[in-house]
Formats: sequence, C-alpha cells, structure tokens
Amino acid sequence: MRSIDDIEVAGRRVLLRSDLNVPLDKQGSGAITDDGRIRASLPVIRKLSERGARVVIMAHLGRPSGADFAERAAGGPSLRVVAERLGELLGKPVQFAGDLVGPSAQATVGGLADGDVALLENVRFEPAETSKDDSERARLAAQLAALGDAYVGDGFGVVHRKQASVYDLPLLLPHAAGDLILAEVAVLRRLTEKPARPYAVILGGSKPSDKLGVIGNLLGVADRLLIGGGMGYTFLAALGYEVGHSLLEADQIESVKSVLAEAERRGVEIVLPTDIVAATHYAPDAPAIVVPADAIPADREGMDIGPDTRALFAAKLIDARTVFWNGPVGVFEFPAFAAGTRAVAEELTKVDGLTVIGGGDSAAAIRSFGLADEAFGHISTGGGASLEYLEGKTLPGLTALETD
Ligand code: ADP
Ligand code: MG
Repeated sequence: MRSIDDIEVAGRRVLLRSDLNVPLDKQGSGAITDDGRIRASLPVIRKLSERGARVVIMAHLGRPSGADFAERAAGGPSLRVVAERLGELLGKPVQFAGDLVGPSAQATVGGLADGDVALLENVRFEPAETSKDDSERARLAAQLAALGDAYVGDGFGVVHRKQASVYDLPLLLPHAAGDLILAEVAVLRRLTEKPARPYAVILGGSKPSDKLGVIGNLLGVADRLLIGGGMGYTFLAALGYEVGHSLLEADQIESVKSVLAEAERRGVEIVLPTDIVAATHYAPDAPAIVVPADAIPADREGMDIGPDTRALFAAKLIDARTVFWNGPVGVFEFPAFAAGTRAVAEELTKVDGLTVIGGGDSAAAIRSFGLADEAFGHISTGGGASLEYLEGKTLPGLTALETD
C-alpha cells in the first residue's frame, strides 16, 4: 500500500475518507461522548494540511434512514457537531459543507486555499453510499471523484465495507493509505502472524450473530476464548440454561453449539460466565442480584458478569502474552453494571504482552473508566473491521488501496 509520502498532495484537492463515527449522547443533548476517533484521525489531517493539500474529509455518522438525501438530512445525525470538535482539536477552522456532492460541497471545495480543511456532510445521507447495486455506488463515486485530485483512505473502522467512499472512489483517483490505517494493519498483522502464547480473546457486546463468524476463525488461532456481555447469554442458553429476559438470539443457539463442539475438538478453552448480575429490567437504577450463571431467574435480565467471573477471567488473562478484546462484558454505560467491563480493562493493563482492544464501545468503556490509552498496546478504531481482519477476510477498503 502506498502511504501519503508517496503521492503528490501540495496544492491538490485531497479527498480523505476518515472514520469520525463518534458515539453521541442518546439522552437529548446529542453531544459527543467519546472523541477518540476524531483524535485518531488528526495526524493525517494535520500532515496533509501542513503539506499544502486542500483537505476534503468524507465521513459517516450513525445510521441515517430515509429514501433520499433530503429525508436523511432531515432525520440526521449531521456531522456539523463533529466539524466543530475537529476544528477545536485541530486548532484551526474546519469548513462544513451541508451536502456531499451538491452545491454546498462544490462551493466549499472550490473556495479552499492550500492547507485548508473541510468536512462534507454525512456520506450516508446519500443512500448510494451503502447500496448493494454496483452502478449506484459507482455513480456517487464519480460525483465525489470530481471534487478531488487524489484520495487518501484513513477510515479503518469502515475498511470492511464495500461502500462508495471506501471502495469505489479510491479506484478512480491516485490513492494512498493514511497513517492510521497503516498503523492498524501493522498491529493486526502481529495478531495473526505468530502471536505470542498463550493467546486469549475476550468477546462481548450485544449480538453473537455479529461475531460468530470470527469466533469460528479464532478457534484456529487463539488458545482461550472468554465470552461475556449480551452475547454470552446465547452461549448459556446453548448449554441449556434459563437466561430470563437477557439478550438472547434464539436462532443462533445451534451455531453456538457447533462452535462449542469445534472448540472442544481443537482444544481451545471456552471460558463462560459462572455468575451474573441479574436486574429486574434494563435500566440504570434497576435492583439487581448476583446469581449463578445456570440459575438466572426467569423474570430477570443479565446485565453484567458477576464477581466470580471477574476473578475467573482475571486468572485466564494474567499469564497471557497476547490478548485481543472486543465488546464490553456488561452494560457498562450504566455505572451499576460496569464492574465486569472495568475488571477486564484493568486486568489487561497488567498483561505482560501485546494487548489490543477493538470496537467503538469497548474503547469508550476504557476511557470512561479513566484508563489511559497508553496502558494498552493498541486501541483499534475499528471493531468490525479488526474482527473481519482477524477472521482472515479480505477487506474491500484495503483491497482498493492496494490496487495500483
Ligand atoms: P464494540 O463497539 O466495542 O464492538 P458492541 O457494539 O458489539 O461493542 O457492543 C457494545 C454494547 O453491548 C454496549 O452498548 C453494551 O451496553 C452492550 N452490552 C454488553 N453487555 C450487555 C448485556 N448483558 N445486555 C445488554 N447489552 C449489553
Ligand atoms: Mg459498538
């Protein structure tokens, strides 16, 4: 992959695909709750600007819905708040275009001087961005290409998506990979090529269906798989346990059973919760009790791993030499149910080896505990992307950047 050192940027309009998909406060204010992805995107933006490029950033935010640009723009979320935060962090104004390929984008890009930085509105306001129809994406990519002279891909969190601004657009312009993508790929390579052992993987988060594919593949790489979070209940259900109102994907139980059988066959240790913090309902202040994992009352909901499981996970991590963690092991957004995720995070800081955390919510969790990014080997900006990389899949965004 070419880096930005290998392409001409001075005086040129450089279309930069970044990942600025930050979590927003869902209760009203809409404020940015963790600006880690914006910070991670700064080095390339600074470098391009200092080299005299006219930097035009494309990014997405959230999951807009609606039939066309107008409907989606009305529903939001708009990247305007991100442009403001980016400007603060950059220490210089970031111009904001209220559309993607329309009059505002044309005027904004046309008015840029060398070194200026602009951000276009949410790429996912254009339904073609994520279309499965190649020709629809190609049309949007061509319109975007007209706004630039070169392309830099630095949105690691989206490289696993075959989308117009990630896959189709770089094929139309001279292109290079940004520093963030190069750094992410370098770390992931260390996880796949001769990792130091024991190699432990912790998987949490909400949906097993998102992560079952990767589990199958990790069985060929990792020595231990620690499962917690919302996806853990489908594993407990696969063992025949009652899980009450806990998150459960009943249609995944059979796949989970075959994962368990395959793990046994390959000698990979699967470590499941032994106790659960079970609440009356999903709420920050819901009354909760600790129950054995095989005795969750039918009227309760599992919100976190319990104290025995915290100790068990700690014991399975302390001698590890490589650890990859994706997905909180509890509803860490509610302080009463954050202890399990906090314990995993703190355990990781003690590991003598390479620790990699992937996933927006996982990264937000460790920052909410006040743990410094430096306490970990690497915090990936891409949860899904890093999982797919570890699965051994080819990632369209990387393929495009590798194409000459
Ligand atoms: P990441 O962004 O790190 O990849 P995910 O998006 O897969 O992680 O999952 C994060 C979400 O999983 C969090 O919002 C968290 O509240 C949720 N979660 C974790 N444990 C539970 C649980 N027991 N019940 C419901 N949701 C859970
Ligand atoms: Mg997430």
